[in-house]
Amino acid sequence: MDFRKSIDGLVAIVEGELEGKLYHEIGRFEKSIGICHKCEQHHVLTLSDRNFICIACAKQQNRDLSAKKV
Ligand SMILES: [Zn+2]
Repeated sequence: MDFRKSIDGLVAIVEGELEGKLYHEIGRFEKSIGICHKCEQHHVLTLSDRNFICIACAKQQNRDLSAKKV
C-alpha cells in the first residue's frame, strides 16, 4: 500500500538522521576507560568524567588515578 510505503520511507529518513547524530556524538566526545582498582570493573567514561563511581562495588574514585595504576 502507498500509505505503508510512505511510512517506511519516513522511518528510514529518521533512522538515517539518528545515525548521523550518533556519529557526531561519538566523534565529539573521546571515550576513556576507567578501571576500578578495587574490583577491576571496566567503565567507559567521557573525558569530562574526572571522577566516577564503580557500578560493581560503588567505590568512588578518580579516573586519572585509576588509569595510572593500571
Ligand atoms: Zn569496583
